[in-house]
Amino acid sequence: MQKENKISLKNYNSFGVDVISSNFNIANSEKEIISFIKNNPFSEPIILGGGTNILFKNNIDRNILKIQVKGIELINETEDYVIISVGAGEVWNDLVNWAINNNYGGLENLSLIPGNVGSAPIQNIGAYGVELKDNFENCRTISIENGSLKIFKNSECKFSYRSSVFKEELKNKYIISYVTFKLSKKNHTINSSYEPLKQAIINNKISNPTIKNISELVCKIRSSKLPDPKLIGNCGSFFKNPIINKIDYKKLSEREKNVPFYKISEKKIKIPAAWVIEKCGYKGIRDGDTGTYDKHALIIVNYGKASGNEIFEFSQKIKNTVLRKFNILLEEEVNIIDN
Ligand SMILES: Cc1cc2nc3c(=O)[nH]c(=O)nc-3n(C[C@H](O)[C@H](O)[C@H](O)COP(=O)(O)OP(=O)(O)OC[C@H]3O[C@@H](n4cnc5c(N)ncnc54)[C@H](O)[C@@H]3O)c2cc1C
Repeated sequence: MQKENKISLKNYNSFGVDVISSNFNIANSEKEIISFIKNNPFSEPIILGGGTNILFKNNIDRNILKIQVKGIELINETEDYVIISVGAGEVWNDLVNWAINNNYGGLENLSLIPGNVGSAPIQNIGAYGVELKDNFENCRTISIENGSLKIFKNSECKFSYRSSVFKEELKNKYIISYVTFKLSKKNHTINSSYEPLKQAIINNKISNPTIKNISELVCKIRSSKLPDPKLIGNCGSFFKNPIINKIDYKKLSEREKNVPFYKISEKKIKIPAAWVIEKCGYKGIRDGDTGTYDKHALIIVNYGKASGNEIFEFSQKIKNTVLRKFNILLEEEVNIIDN
């Protein structure tokens, strides 16, 4: 277990906000997580992975526990698939690359998503038509209350769009130490349903895309659209795409031309948060040292010296404007930490 009493979190969050943690701990194994919980009862630690989906508003006095459990282990194999167990502290994109190099299919559409493996189930990461839940078997967790171990199967995680049981009723109750995946060894299911990916396949004249092709195209599209947090602080999408009912969608389309949509069910429609934010005049605007990215209105950026509070206040201006103009309440995708 590593411990620091006063440390800047600037390099531990992709917004790059410079807040001070007075109780920073790093756990390198499941054993260290359990002993931390047993030695710090009732401490309600903030669990940290790669810090790419978290906004620290202020300095943090509470314990922070960064999970750095490493390792990829093959635990079962048939002719058709492998089952692997991966330490929560592995970098997500390293896992994706490892899978592709071994010709294991399933994770390729999720290429280049920042962050660590242990955080991926929290919001059921998703991109280009695939979500974590599609290849997830189970995760091994430690109770924050008493340090006991519990395995959550796929069905118990209640995965939904950018959410899971760990972001809802069991929020801050469990620490994920290992995640188990089932990946295909042959006859991979290629998912090219997402329009820009479909177009890229056509443009590159690829007739039978491999998982490697898909990963390379996804990386290319993502790099052209999304800001690199190493160059400009951000956490990707700040808000979730709102899901509205069909009647409200109809009213909205009577007011606005060509409202983009994605049908979720007979009654529910998802619309891009970026579109509503852009319609409110918030694309590529700057407010002090924060603002929205010029190529993508849903991404709030830190131009360098913005504080967590400034970023948060700016996000609330956007949220209030969208509510006033469209009567749509945006929900934060980024995890906001007060102190
Ligand atoms: C440029 C950019 C692009 C992005 N694109 C996407 C995208 O396409 N799709 C997508 O879904 N997300 C995307 N994200 C968001 C982010 O990459 C994911 O949410 C990722 O899973 C966060 O991982 P992390 O390790 O950085 O989590 P952190 O930010 O460290 O933590 C996120 C949350 O998980 C909790 N947590 C972390 N580790 C654990 C653990 N081991 N056990 C229990 N709780 C834990 C934290 O307390 C926090 O609440 C993007 C972010 C950026 C910066």
